[in-house]
Amino acid sequence: MPSTGEPSIFSRIAAREIPATIVAETDRVIAFNDIAPQAPVHVVITPKTSEYANVVELAAGDPDLLAELVAVASGLAATLSNGQFRLVFNTGETVGQTVFHVHAHLLAPQGAGGPLEEGTLGFR
Ligand code: 5GP
Repeated sequence: MPSTGEPSIFSRIAAREIPATIVAETDRVIAFNDIAPQAPVHVVITPKTSEYANVVELAAGDPDLLAELVAVASGLAATLSNGQFRLVFNTGETVGQTVFHVHAHLLAPQGAGGPLEEGTLGFR
């Protein structure tokens, strides 16, 4: 989807223009609880820059930033869950991408909780 030129919803969260429960932040990455969780732990992790629409663009354009995003995910899984996690990058409208500012979904059990359901993102 072409950029509208408007700040993305995630840029507005990073700028504190829209409230969200922020659970981690570095100079270049921000992580916050998803507004419609699909797993006991469901965190959106996104670069503060809106320059990359999806993970393919991010991997090609700034692999270090992608690695930083994965490191933030791993750290959050260790503190919020049991260190094991699912990391999902929806890439394209037909697979459910709705926000065209690259982001990962961190999905994990809460604390030492049981396994995520297979064949789903987390719940259901
Ligand atoms: P996508 O469908 O693009 O892979 O993921 C976008 C995610 O952003 C969805 O899981 C959706 O629930 C979440 N989301 C959309 N708007 C907001 C918002 O204003 N606040 C928060 N915390 N999450 C949002």
